[in-house]
Amino acid sequence: MPELPEVEITRCGLEPHLVGQRIRTAVIRHHGLRHPIPQDLKNTLTGLSIRSLQRRGKYLLLDCGEGWLILHLGMSGSLRILPAATPPEKHDPFDLVLESGQCMRLRDPRRVGAVLWTAAPPENHPLLVKLGVEPLTAEFDGDFLYLVSRGRRTPIKQFLMDGHVIVGVGNIYANEALFAAGINPKTAAGRLGKERCTRLAALVKDILNLAIAAGGSTLRDFVNSDGNPGYFQQQYGVYGRTGQPCLRCGATVRQLRQGQRSTFYCPG
Ligand SMILES: [Zn+2]
Repeated sequence: MPELPEVEITRCGLEPHLVGQRIRTAVIRHHGLRHPIPQDLKNTLTGLSIRSLQRRGKYLLLDCGEGWLILHLGMSGSLRILPAATPPEKHDPFDLVLESGQCMRLRDPRRVGAVLWTAAPPENHPLLVKLGVEPLTAEFDGDFLYLVSRGRRTPIKQFLMDGHVIVGVGNIYANEALFAAGINPKTAAGRLGKERCTRLAALVKDILNLAIAAGGSTLRDFVNSDGNPGYFQQQYGVYGRTGQPCLRCGATVRQLRQGQRSTFYCPG
């Protein structure tokens, strides 16, 4: 599943091809995503100029002046830049055709992504209005984490993954950050002191930034590729390493379920 780093890398990869371009037209091959593509979207988009491409959580926001195109990759979606005449494949519901002769094509095999339009500020859109802080901004730090976790009995792992508190810290990155910080994922969020909150917030940023940097080498995959999403495999400290020795202390990495997600941790 695309996580925050993949979405940010997608944003960086698409940005130079989109910003400053006029939209020649849009091609909608089927409207039936989880959130249906608006019927009149083609008319809305035609002729508008793209001012910027931003990200909020795992949503990409295309500023078209008169409004915003809101995109989400769902479970397995991808966005690529292709010559507009490239024949579409079965799972390519949406193209944004640019005056450059290229198009931005959405592939969404599981049809759970989103292509939506809002004329209002996107932060007020129902899908975005309740999103928590961005982990890579200055707003997210140890003080913030300490403040919002007071009195919370939720295990810190699930707390980190609560998108109403912090957006985009997916399962992999929550596991990795807690391992790096030496914090038991089952610890109640409210029991973490200032020092551990500070360490954890810094490591969440580091781990997301490392993932974005690692994915930078896949940027070319967003242009003229064979259609495989540019997701990347990384080396993980603890994620997926059940039964293997901890890279730090040699103890056996264990696995448990928290909120229907797998948690990996070193008992040491
Ligand atoms: Zn260990």
